[in-house]
Amino acid sequence: MDTVVLDNIQCEIDLTKLQEKLRLREDNSYLAEVLELAAQAQLIARPKVIFKRSLVGAKGDNYVVIDGIRFNSRILRVNLEDTAMVFPFIITCGTELEIWSKQFDDFFISYCVDTIKEMVLNYARQEFVMYLEREFGLVHGANMNPGSLPDWPITEQKPLFDLLGNVEELIGVQLNDSFLLLPVKTVSGIRFPKDSTFENCQLCPRENCPNRKAPYNEEMCRHFH
Ligand code: SF4
Repeated sequence: MDTVVLDNIQCEIDLTKLQEKLRLREDNSYLAEVLELAAQAQLIARPKVIFKRSLVGAKGDNYVVIDGIRFNSRILRVNLEDTAMVFPFIITCGTELEIWSKQFDDFFISYCVDTIKEMVLNYARQEFVMYLEREFGLVHGANMNPGSLPDWPITEQKPLFDLLGNVEELIGVQLNDSFLLLPVKTVSGIRFPKDSTFENCQLCPRENCPNRKAPYNEEMCRHFH
């Protein structure tokens, strides 16, 4: 299948959620400015998704081949044991919002703008999940992301980019020499069918991570090694 680009996502920023995230009470002097920024961001934001329906090929102990491209990860390989089709993806808040966000110097406002960009990215993530459910019947899915676990290092962004084609031309996302994605509010990974719950966080022992989505699961770690 050819690469698919979703670039017509009508983003809606949930203002109540934004206020909660920023802990802004009604009497906070920043509130009006932040709400105005959210309104601006909503007009400017063009979040984008690029993905491909891909076929799982050969597997070794610590690798799996997808659309002819090798990915080195024991955990990915085990997760794809009985899977024939997967969806490699990149999702971004978009260069439009990134450029807009660079004008702010105030520390707190920059933090608020960063939170707004994160919410736009999350909105695009949800749209992607719903798109796969609607168009491909992928109701129960899980993601793995290069760089989130030592088993699948950040250098594996490179084969992911190779698989998806000219990502920069199609959605404006660059991969720099340190394998970081630009704009920063961009995520990449592979989405695959999974009946049971799987989150990278279940295999990650990092303590006090503010982004943790599931508790660390030692038994699951043993299963993958
Ligand atoms: S716990 Fe935090 S660092 Fe570890 S995988 Fe989850 S989000 Fe990433």
